[in-house]
Amino acid sequence: MAEPASTITSYHAHIYWSSPAERERALAVREGIAVRFVVQLGTIHDRNVGPHPRSMYQVAFTPDVFPGLVPWLLLNRQELSVLIHPNTGRARDDHLLHAAWLGAPLRLNADTLPNSLEDGGGVSPVVPNTNPGSNGG
Ligand code: ZN
Repeated sequence: MAEPASTITSYHAHIYWSSPAERERALAVREGIAVRFVVQLGTIHDRNVGPHPRSMYQVAFTPDVFPGLVPWLLLNRQELSVLIHPNTGRARDDHLLHAAWLGAPLRLNADTLPNSLEDGGGVSPVVPNTNPGSNGG
């Protein structure tokens, strides 16, 4: 039985870095996203958080943004590892089974990932904090 894509309420892209030079490129990618897409840019984490094995930031976006943002990342990820995962409320499956990697995949820390809404796998709504077009695009 196929699972309908309508169970996906939003997506995350996680952009990773592991050196000062990569961090600089990651922030350039972030700026490129900010001026083009209506997304929620997350905190810049200069340490490992949750299942993420490297420094990273998160980009949360609604399904309508996917066909613009993901091809842009394919072309402009600056050789960084990028995780794209759906949010269905089952964090473990979302990150481990249903995710896509751009560039070199990393091994996530699965122990931190609950797999049901009851376990805290609930999905936060996307609250966009970018303002594309304001900066010349
Ligand atoms: Zn995520």
